[in-house]
Amino acid sequence: MKRHFGIFGGRYVPELLIPALEELENEYKLAKNDPRFKREFKYHLNSFAGRPTPLTLADNLTKKLGGAKIYLKNEGLNHTGAHKITHCIGHALMAKRMGKGRIIAETGAGQHGLASAAVAARFGLSCTVYMGETDIIRQRPNVFWMKSLGAEVVPVRNGNKTLKDAVNAAIRDWIENVDNSYYLLGSVVGPHPYPTMTRDFQSVVGKEARKQILKEEKKLPDIVTACIGGGSNAMGIFSGFINKDTVELVGVEAGGTDSTIGKHSSRITGGSIGVVEGYKSIFLQDKDGQLQKTHSIAAGLDYAGLGPEIAYLHSKNRIRIKKASDAEALNAFKMLSRYEGIFPALESAHAIAYAIKKAPRIGKDKIIIANISGRGDKDLFIIASAFKDKNFGSFLKDESERREYHE
Ligand SMILES: *Cc1c(COP(=O)(O)O)cnc(C)c1O
Repeated sequence: MKRHFGIFGGRYVPELLIPALEELENEYKLAKNDPRFKREFKYHLNSFAGRPTPLTLADNLTKKLGGAKIYLKNEGLNHTGAHKITHCIGHALMAKRMGKGRIIAETGAGQHGLASAAVAARFGLSCTVYMGETDIIRQRPNVFWMKSLGAEVVPVRNGNKTLKDAVNAAIRDWIENVDNSYYLLGSVVGPHPYPTMTRDFQSVVGKEARKQILKEEKKLPDIVTACIGGGSNAMGIFSGFINKDTVELVGVEAGGTDSTIGKHSSRITGGSIGVVEGYKSIFLQDKDGQLQKTHSIAAGLDYAGLGPEIAYLHSKNRIRIKKASDAEALNAFKMLSRYEGIFPALESAHAIAYAIKKAPRIGKDKIIIANISGRGDKDLFIIASAFKDKNFGSFLKDESERREYHE
């Protein structure tokens, strides 16, 4: 298995973790070619996650924009509301196969923690989720759900008390408990073999989409677009089309509010090459290699690193990377809700924003597939506040007075 994607990727970890990564790589090589593992993975994708997800023609939006036909790959219909459950099932099956009874995860927005807690409950594994204290305060609903699923959520009080600090705490735990614990990473990031494994698990999305569009249109799309946080939903859908040069692959990063440091999460705009969190890629970092502050209205895009394979494919000009601002994402959310009856996650709304901009500029004979990485229910509080919904604000206030939250 290749450890690098061009100059990107690799495995830059403390010596102590090398044997664990080798064990994982060797076991994955076996699992990948094991018909029983493949069968089991597929079984749980179908019967637990809800795959295959549909490819929906956005008829009304297409007519409204008057250009290319827009199709939506609706990953939001997965159990727990996003694409993440797919690779979490793959990793949980690996943990079982390797005889590890415990999952360690770290989470920023809580989405990965939620998917990890769900698969742990389903597969009878215990689960510890590290989360910065600041994020715990910001993402209370996901913390509540993780605990309801039986996970232990450990508040991290070091540094900025956000994702970066949670990653460090998770790695410390893994070093101490490597014998019985499986480190479940949330995206196509981290040291080899994680980016490859997570991409492979997510590639089912691309395979489904390719089959679905061929059935519907008898030809491949002209453009496939997906939002990019770490890059797992993008690598998932892109991998179904990557061997066809005529299909343009467009990743969309978070443009935030403007292009100054701290106001966006576009690694391509403001990043540089470095080694952080065990892998080489493009990071938003300062001169000393410290990760910079990032921002996005979409919690899942608010990350300073970029999956190494994404960085590589971008350097080879195989994928193009664009950005959408907070305001454009909110507008895309509004349009998809009103015209198609679908609430996209704010992350996914970035890809929709690109499709909305692009479709009218190209011909009606063209086809765009936009990946809806997740559904928008989780963003209720952020969206209601962004739309300045006074009624929702007073509902929250009244509700806290009306209900019994304390003994
Ligand atoms: C986590 C998340 C993302 C970002 O992660 P990727 O690895 O870039 O896919 C995007 N959309 C949703 C709905 C998410 O939960």
